[in-house]
Amino acid sequence: MQVLFILRAAKINDPELLYEAFQQQTAPGHADKIQIEVFKHSDKRWNRLAPNGALDQNVDEQILTVLDQLFSAQDQTTWYYESTLQGWFCSYKPLSTKHFVLLVKCSDPDKLIEEDYLQFLLHFYCHQLQMLQGTYRDALTGLYNRRAFNEKIPQLLDRGGHFQRRAINFAPTVYVMLDIDHFKLINDSKGHLFGDEVLRILAQLTSDSFRENDLLFRYGGEEFAKVLMDITPEQTQQTLERFREKIASYGFPDGEQVTVSIGYTRFDKTHSMDELIDQADSALYYCKATTRNAVHSYQDLVQKGLISMARRPKSLHIEPS
Ligand code: GH3
Ligand code: MG
Ligand code: MG
Repeated sequence: MQVLFILRAAKINDPELLYEAFQQQTAPGHADKIQIEVFKHSDKRWNRLAPNGALDQNVDEQILTVLDQLFSAQDQTTWYYESTLQGWFCSYKPLSTKHFVLLVKCSDPDKLIEEDYLQFLLHFYCHQLQMLQGTYRDALTGLYNRRAFNEKIPQLLDRGGHFQRRAINFAPTVYVMLDIDHFKLINDSKGHLFGDEVLRILAQLTSDSFRENDLLFRYGGEEFAKVLMDITPEQTQQTLERFREKIASYGFPDGEQVTVSIGYTRFDKTHSMDELIDQADSALYYCKATTRNAVHSYQDLVQKGLISMARRPKSLHIEPS
């Protein structure tokens, strides 16, 4: 069988969105015979990811059995055929805390679509995901990398402050910068590999501690950035404080004590990306210059007169000569 397969350069940096592209990639004459479903492991159970992005707990018993029995938390990109369901399963874990399984079923009574073709689609899907992983994810921590940061933050600012993920709107509310305290000392005393392990653990604790829709980036080195969605000022301070304490009391290997300094600012859509960064940075630097191991809000510090307004002017206006 000849199938026309058009590889469009889909620029999608979110695995959850990829399956939509995957559907579009199937040849037009066959797309209606191939059903694709995505399942996501969250809250210790498998849910079906509905096309509008919502999680549906109503998963067919037989599928649930396959998911529970065949896909362990260690699976990376395994995939295989389940004959009772006449479908192919493909497992993907973009982050250690996230696990997706894609099910491709073929309802083609004439068996015109060959298994080879479905396998090819699945390979393509896995390959795309791996490419995305390489492009937008930091290899050491699995968090979004600087490149993702440079693309996503302007998108959030451009869209009137609303980030649309499928049909669901989230309002970015807080921009956070975090820097590990005295990380150089940790590297110097225990070695770089140990330092890397600390970064990995910190990233894991970060993804475990924030909500599904918050965006987490490794900004560079031992610095992390976050965008928190739909959160009140009180919740922000509490959440970040709790996180700071969690790190300070966490049992890192070799009894190492690790602390972090955190600065944050309101995610104000009238600001530029540079202004957001400068504001959170000013609060972070205040932390470093005073106690470290603390959480500070830019607006609070300005209001209390502890720092002056962020240094960079809103826009650099040069009068014509
Ligand atoms: P401060 O409390 O002021 O932030 O002090 P610091 O020592 O954390 O900050 P400094 O900027 O002096 O040092 C950051 C260190 O982070 C230096 C660099 O070697 C280390 N680093 C950056 N990226 C990595 C990485 O990927 N792995 C490891 N192991 N170390 C890294
Ligand atoms: Mg630093
Ligand atoms: Mg540091």
